[in-house]
Amino acid sequence: MKKAKYIIKKMTAGLVKSCKKLKDVNLISRMVLIVAAVMMVVALGLVLFYKTPLHEVICNTEQHNVVEVKSGDTLSKILGNEGFSMRDIDTISKTLKTEANFTTLRAGRDKLDFIRPGENEPISKIVIINGPWNRVEIDCGVPGTWQCQKVEIERDTRIAYKEGEIKEGSSFYLAALEAGVPEGIVIDVYDLLAFEMDFERDIRAGQKFYVVYEENYNAETKVDNGSVLAVSFDALRGNVQMYRFVKPDGHVGYYDENGNGAIKSLKRTPINNAKITSSFAGRRKHPVLGFTRAHKGVDFRAPTGTPIPAAGAGRVIARSFNRGHGNFVKIRHNGTFETLYAHMSKFAKGVNVGSVVRQGQIIGYSGSTGLSTGPHLHYEVIKNGVHVNPMTVKLPAIDNLDAKNKPLFMEYKKGLEEKINILKSNPKQIVRLKDKEENKENKK
Ligand SMILES: [Zn+2]
Repeated sequence: MKKAKYIIKKMTAGLVKSCKKLKDVNLISRMVLIVAAVMMVVALGLVLFYKTPLHEVICNTEQHNVVEVKSGDTLSKILGNEGFSMRDIDTISKTLKTEANFTTLRAGRDKLDFIRPGENEPISKIVIINGPWNRVEIDCGVPGTWQCQKVEIERDTRIAYKEGEIKEGSSFYLAALEAGVPEGIVIDVYDLLAFEMDFERDIRAGQKFYVVYEENYNAETKVDNGSVLAVSFDALRGNVQMYRFVKPDGHVGYYDENGNGAIKSLKRTPINNAKITSSFAGRRKHPVLGFTRAHKGVDFRAPTGTPIPAAGAGRVIARSFNRGHGNFVKIRHNGTFETLYAHMSKFAKGVNVGSVVRQGQIIGYSGSTGLSTGPHLHYEVIKNGVHVNPMTVKLPAIDNLDAKNKPLFMEYKKGLEEKINILKSNPKQIVRLKDKEENKENKK
């Protein structure tokens, strides 16, 4: 710097001297000379001041060429377009397969970054960007040889807390979006609560809810959302709470505040240990009518007066009598499933059309009313309006924590609730499920 300043000083002095000698030259020529001299000084000064950094910038200019994988693209095709020889393409494909277990590029998601150390130099590195958290780096070592490695981008997972209330005439979906819950998370919450409530019919103004979920950051940039960590919803039958919990064996589940499986489902056999006396069948000879017709449910042996529990939480949509079913109750569980219980001797108290029932709540007692040859429960499951076999229809598993995992869950829940409380009072605070150090420990 000192040297540069000195040079400029000297040059300026010289310029003033030369100007004095140029008295005879005409004004325009003098002006041109002065401007040229000033420009020269400025240029020289700049070069001296920025000599080192400029040099570095030029030499470190890596050339990146990012190619998006489009439908119909293959690795060979893309590498060919970049000018790789068949031999190189073959080597790179094999290296990718053996060293990174990478075989297929996905159109619309993957990108390839071709890096040259400088302009007009050969490609020295290829980075396959497959998803926001994964990279495969392929380096050229000795010309013609390639090494590759998988790189996992460090994920900074933070907890987000959003609370809201259903407004008159609104839906949970709109209320959740309004509360700032991302759409993908709202859909996950729908799935979690699917057997708890009917989102079309059981929503009322004033119902409060909160959703706690993961947000994944790369440095300070939010990249995507993770899992729903907790949900609280003021349902018609009371407050419903769910917490995501990972068992030590890695199994992930959602549990209520007491550690019971929160993903409600339908019980295939409403009465425990009841023997099946007649299975679901497309066609069978009816025992009373004598002619062949479909058996749309499953019959369970149950002496008259056996309590019949609801197979899942829901709303009673029918409590009636007809010739075939005798006394029957029909429950709508959510937008998808309904169940029907027939041949009851009597209905349980307080079970009326419109009643909201819990899973396991007694809705009536077995009998032999209607077209029946003896006391039994005839149980039907209706999925999207179609009768399905209760014993084989795909249903979410009901999963309760055992004595070993329950205390672990309760401890985890306590910690999570403390974090939720921090976010309740200050939603902008950065809160993590695990401290960063802890995260690193776990990765080791
Ligand atoms: Zn039957």
